[in-house]
Amino acid sequence: MDFDTTLFDSALAEAWIRAIAAAVEKEQARLTELDSAIGDGDHGSNLQRGFSAAVTALDGLQPTGPGTVLTKTGTTLISKVGGASGPLYGKAFRAIGAALPEPADPAVLAEALAAGLDAIRLLGKAEPGDKTIVDAWTPAVAALRAAAATGAALPEATAAAADAADQGARDTIPLRARKGRASYLGERSTGHQDPGATSTALLFQTLADVTGQHG
Ligand code: ADP
Ligand code: MG
Repeated sequence: MDFDTTLFDSALAEAWIRAIAAAVEKEQARLTELDSAIGDGDHGSNLQRGFSAAVTALDGLQPTGPGTVLTKTGTTLISKVGGASGPLYGKAFRAIGAALPEPADPAVLAEALAAGLDAIRLLGKAEPGDKTIVDAWTPAVAALRAAAATGAALPEATAAAADAADQGARDTIPLRARKGRASYLGERSTGHQDPGATSTALLFQTLADVTGQHG
């Protein structure tokens, strides 16, 4: 039987944060454009500032497990990003970090990311369908859990999560925003993809990329 025993460890966690910073840099204009349509146009620069600071914070960090890296990232995002996404992603990464003291298999990683989603929902009070990051994060966690339950290895499980997050982000287009700045637009928020759901899809795509490369 061919099976993969790769675990999500501190090296992968660090590679993930660096890959997010690179992806956010590359997609900054698109995130800004999406946020200009239904928000205030700062989502790209908010995340660029936050994740480049997170990368800087990793330099010199001596991680004792993947959680160290992700908790540090969360704390940095909270302190560096003023927009709604800073505290939401910051709390999420802190919760994910707290759930990953040791290298994790896909099932444990799925539960950690579920804890991240819980943190987002506790702070932001958004329900699925409110046109927020919750709409990409929720199907991603479900897909990762389902893949882990069938015994999928890390690259395969995270690829399924990335696909689900991307679909979740696309599915925000017809939705009317009920949370965050976009909700001020009411009906006029429909017909645009949510910037936060789009950046969540990027987070899950980079997770799949780094585990696929190293797995
Ligand atoms: P701000 O809205 O303060 O300018 P950003 O532009 O960085 O912050 O982030 C906007 C994104 O934050 C939205 O596209 C949405 O996905 C997400 N968001 C806003 N409010 C909430 C909330 N209450 N719960 C979950 N996500 C939210
Ligand atoms: Mg904004």
